[in-house]
Amino acid sequence: MDKVITLKNISYQYHTTDTKPALNNISLSIEAGEWVAIIGHNGSGKSTLAKTINGLIAPNQGEVTVGGLILSEQNIWEIRKLVGMVFQNPDNQFVGSTVQDDVAFGLENQGIPRDEMIDRVIDAIERVKMTEFIEKEPARLSGGQKQRVAIAGVVALRPAIIILDEATSMLDPQGRQEVLTTVKAIKEKANLTVISITHDIDEAANANRIMVIKDGELIQEGTPEEIFMSGEKLIEMGLDLPFPEKLKLSLKERGIDVPANYLTEEGM
Ligand code: ADP
Repeated sequence: MDKVITLKNISYQYHTTDTKPALNNISLSIEAGEWVAIIGHNGSGKSTLAKTINGLIAPNQGEVTVGGLILSEQNIWEIRKLVGMVFQNPDNQFVGSTVQDDVAFGLENQGIPRDEMIDRVIDAIERVKMTEFIEKEPARLSGGQKQRVAIAGVVALRPAIIILDEATSMLDPQGRQEVLTTVKAIKEKANLTVISITHDIDEAANANRIMVIKDGELIQEGTPEEIFMSGEKLIEMGLDLPFPEKLKLSLKERGIDVPANYLTEEGM
């Protein structure tokens, strides 16, 4: 498979006076079509990492390659087009007064012919299953619906990569499910690469791979099973996480025990 993102020895400091870098010598690569979950404590550097991948910040050190392009001042806009971002707060992401205006907004300065623009907007709204709300005011939608509209705005730009930066964290369980199902369906159809920064352990357990960030460093990566079966190490890292339900069921079916350090008094 092709690598769609490669970071080589990335370091970043917000201010020269900071005693600790926000990112410290991170190297990683992500394959096209992969779903990677990034987990770690608040302030560990996850959002900074996302901003590095879409060129919002330029690392002080190291090399970022996205879609075969080495990030530089010359191609920053090309890279931003490849990477769509969906953020945490659904209410901060709207600019249009109707769903369709909102989805069209990002396309407006791209020099795309009007007919194609309309096609892309309609297609993106269909993909997030919001066609019946096309004339509605985004403010009147539920949290999950708002995030689906935000995703449509990103999908209309036809990115190769979508980064969900805690995009489900303000939603109720139903909204969260709606958003994840929507992204999964789009991903499969369009061979999108998805990076989800998340505190939701079941969301992380559904990824192809999990990366654990601590104090600006990538301290562990592997499949959800590899990450959670090494529970002792996670707890050593200060990541006191519950064992994902889905993984528990899949292990049970295969007659494998949940690591003892995850067992609670009630038993699991
Ligand atoms: P996370 O997404 O894991 O919560 P961040 O990437 O937001 O972590 O933050 C990593 C570190 O960088 C933290 O120490 C945070 O205080 C610092 N930081 C984040 N954004 C800024 C900023 N705009 N200016 C200065 N420092 C920042």
